[in-house]
Amino acid sequence: DSMKILEKFKEEVKKHNIENEIEIVRTGCFGLCELGPVVIVYPEGAFYSRVKVEDVEEIVAEHLVKGRPVTRLLYTETVEEGRIKSLNETGFYKKQERIALRNCGVIDPENIDEYIAFDGYKALAKVLTTMTPEQVIEEVKKSGLRGRGGGGFPTGLKWELTAKSKADQKYVVCNADEGDPGAFMDRSILEGDPHSVLEAMAIAGYAIGANQGYIYVRAEYPIAVQRLKVAIKQAREYGLLGKNIFGTDFSFDIEIRLGAGAFVCGEETALMNSIEGRRGMPNPKPPFPAQSGLWGKPTLINNVETYANIPPIIVRGGEWFASKGTEKSKGTKVFALGGKITNTGLVEVPMGITLREVIYEIGGGIPNGKKFKAVQTGGPSGGCLTAEHLDTPIEYDTLTALGSMMGSGGMIVMDEDTCMVDVARFYLDFTRDESCGKCTPCRIGTKRMLEILDRIVEGKGTLEDLDKLEELGKQIKAASLCGLGQTAPNPVLSTLKHFRDEYVAHVVDKK
Ligand code: SF4
Repeated sequence: DSMKILEKFKEEVKKHNIENEIEIVRTGCFGLCELGPVVIVYPEGAFYSRVKVEDVEEIVAEHLVKGRPVTRLLYTETVEEGRIKSLNETGFYKKQERIALRNCGVIDPENIDEYIAFDGYKALAKVLTTMTPEQVIEEVKKSGLRGRGGGGFPTGLKWELTAKSKADQKYVVCNADEGDPGAFMDRSILEGDPHSVLEAMAIAGYAIGANQGYIYVRAEYPIAVQRLKVAIKQAREYGLLGKNIFGTDFSFDIEIRLGAGAFVCGEETALMNSIEGRRGMPNPKPPFPAQSGLWGKPTLINNVETYANIPPIIVRGGEWFASKGTEKSKGTKVFALGGKITNTGLVEVPMGITLREVIYEIGGGIPNGKKFKAVQTGGPSGGCLTAEHLDTPIEYDTLTALGSMMGSGGMIVMDEDTCMVDVARFYLDFTRDESCGKCTPCRIGTKRMLEILDRIVEGKGTLEDLDKLEELGKQIKAASLCGLGQTAPNPVLSTLKHFRDEYVAHVVDKK
C-alpha cells in the first residue's frame, strides 16, 4: 500500500504542477506501526495516519496546494481546537527519546546526502582526524553503553579487549540476525538508517585496528539487505568506505553475509561459523571472539542497535549519553511493542522508565477495556513480568533479578484472556524447533519439556508434571552449551513462578 500511496502522491503533485516546490521522500519506519501507512507533511509536521490511496488527491489539493491540512485524516492526538500539535506532545512520542532511531522515518535511507545532512559521517571524520584509537575507546567506555543485542556486556570494554589482542588481521562484525519473535528493532534501523551502522563499524574498525567488516543479516529482511547494499555502494563512492578514508592511512570495507533463517546463528560463535561457510553451530567459550573469532582472528561483534548509538556518542560525547538512563543502564533502549496493546510499534525510551509508562502512556494501554495480565520481555529467552512489576524501572539488572531479561527489546503484552500455559508452550516450541542439536540437554531436554506441556494443555497432565518441568528447566539452563539452551526454559519457569495456578487449573480442571 505504501508504494501505491507514494506513486499516487507523485502523480498528484505532478498534476498540480508543484514538483519543484514539494519534495516527496520515502523514509523508513517512524515507529507507530498501528497507524500506518503514515504520511508527514513538513514544515508543519502534520501527521496523516492510516492513509489510503483514495486520500492522496485531497491531501495534495487541500494541504499541499492550498495550505489547508485535512484535519479529519490527521492522527487525532495531533489535532486540538483546530491547531496541529507537535508529535512530541502526543502520548506515543512524548516520553520517547530517539538516539538509535534518530533518523528512522526522517531521512531517505537510500540517499547518503540526507544522512550526511543530519550529521552523518561527522563522527567518523572526527575520530579519523582528531582522535587516537584509545581516545575513541575511552569515549565509548565513558558513555556506559552496553550491548543492545541482549547480553548487556559493556561495549567500550569489549572494544578495548579486542583492541588489545595482538594480530596481523582483525575483524568487525555486525550481528543483524534478529530472530526473536516479536522483535523488529534492528530491521527498522537497517531499513531506515543503514549508514549509521556502516559509520559505526568503520569507527570500531579504527578503534580496534581492523580493516574489514561483515554484516550478518537475515535473508528474511530483503528490504534491509537491499538498503544496506545501496548504502555500502554509496559510502564507497563517497570515499567513506574503502582505502584511505578522509585521506588518512585508515582503510576499511564492509561485506554483507546472509543468514539462512536459523535462530541460533544470532549466537556469536554460531554466526561466525556461518560466515566462514560452516554449519551455524555454537562453540564453547572461551576463547571469546575478542581473542579468537572469525578465522581465528580477534573479532569485535556488536548488534545493530549498539552500533547505531555510536555516531551520536562520538559527536556529542560519552558523558552526554551517560547522562541519560540509570546508574548501571545508560542511555536509551528501543523496544518493539506488540501483543494486546493499543499502540503497537517501535519506541525508544530512556533506561529506567517504568513498564507502566511504556505500556499505558506510550502504548496507550490494553484495548477493549481488558485488564493487563503480563508482559514478556526478552523474547524466547526472557520471562514474563506481571502487574506487580508495572512500576519496576526497566534496566538490565532489575529485569534479570525478576527472572526476565532485557533481551533485544521485544515486549509482548498479554491481557486477562491470555492463557499463560499457551504462551510458555509457544516459546518452548520455538526454541525446541531452533535448537541446533549440538548438545544433549538442549536437544533432548526442550523436547521432553514440550511433551510435558503438550500433556498439560491436552488435559492429561498431573501435578507431578509441574515439578518435572521445573527440574528439567533448571538442568537445561545449567548444562546447555550456548545461550539458546541456557535460556530456553525461562518462559516456562517464569510462568510457573507467577501463574502456577493456571498450570494447576489445566491439570485439575480437565481430569
Ligand atoms: Fe545447540 Fe541448544 Fe546446545 Fe546451543 S544449547 S549448542 S542451540 S543444542
